[in-house]
Amino acid sequence: MNSVAFDMGIRLAWHVWKNRLAGRQRFPIVTMLEPLETCNLACKGCGRIREYHETVILKKKMLSVEQCLEAVEEADAPVVSIAGGEPLLHPQIDEIVARIIAQKRFVFLCTNGLLLEQGMQKIKPSKYFCWVVHLDGMVEVHDYWVDRKGVWDKAMKGLRRALADGYRVCTNTTIFKGSDVNDLHQFFQYITDLGVEGMMISAGFPYLDVPDHDIFLERDESIQTFRKALDPSRHFNFYNNPLYLEFLRGNRQGTCQAWTNPTYTPLGWRKPCYLIADEHTDNLEELLEPSLWERYGVGRDPRCASCTMHSGFEPGMVQAALTSPTEMGALLKGLIRNRRNGRNGTN
Ligand code: SF4
Repeated sequence: MNSVAFDMGIRLAWHVWKNRLAGRQRFPIVTMLEPLETCNLACKGCGRIREYHETVILKKKMLSVEQCLEAVEEADAPVVSIAGGEPLLHPQIDEIVARIIAQKRFVFLCTNGLLLEQGMQKIKPSKYFCWVVHLDGMVEVHDYWVDRKGVWDKAMKGLRRALADGYRVCTNTTIFKGSDVNDLHQFFQYITDLGVEGMMISAGFPYLDVPDHDIFLERDESIQTFRKALDPSRHFNFYNNPLYLEFLRGNRQGTCQAWTNPTYTPLGWRKPCYLIADEHTDNLEELLEPSLWERYGVGRDPRCASCTMHSGFEPGMVQAALTSPTEMGALLKGLIRNRRNGRNGTN
């Protein structure tokens, strides 16, 4: 963990304690902001471009700068993840980022990398800003999942330049059925050697709008794949917290707490979560109501059965660590191991 990640950890811990002391049981920890859903790719596993094709993309709807800021301030989370769609297609993305950073919130901008070099002309390096480049493996594997040749080369060119220009850079990798673990290990090693801050990883969610459901992992398959992909003996430097990685490996239980990551789109807040939108609402409080969560989560809604997404499960593990000495011990142990891995450069 580097010093910025450490600072962010302290901010998150303070945010959780502050809300707990105020008597709040449910509150956002990360705001997921989707200023537009338009994309310059059509990845095989993407639910968004299919779900929002008629209602947002064809109608060219996008959030204004002010709407983005209102959502961020309403959720009041210290971390904002900007996704979509491809956020760099938004004509005012630089202003959106600059004004959120001015509030001293940590911004992670998720991009497929095609416009990364243009984005760097508009968005300057900051301790509060990190590019998150979507890469699902080495060149052939990644270009297969994004369904276009040349994407890996372009994204990697942008990523290298971003590192050289002093930006913070992470990667985000989605695992699908049939993902080649050897290729993943080669990729994780390659990307770590380049000096990225960390790698995030998750399983593809079986969006109903994606026609080929065979590409998504069932829960048991997911555990088997993550046990191999996250082989601790390889000492890769993952950005996800160590408790969540243990959950992905099937070594600990997790409870969905998706209200911690509310998602704002041009249609409003997705209800209930980043992955499922049975409704959209302008009232964030609706996402925090206990009665809503009697209907969603593993064992309650069949669509949740194979969900292991960080947006549902990871923040709950951070919160548990902040209220239980045993969980905190496990978290610190994992963080120290990650820090040692990063310092040794053996990831
Ligand atoms: S388990 Fe939680 S995060 Fe996953 S789809 Fe269900 S409600 Fe959403």
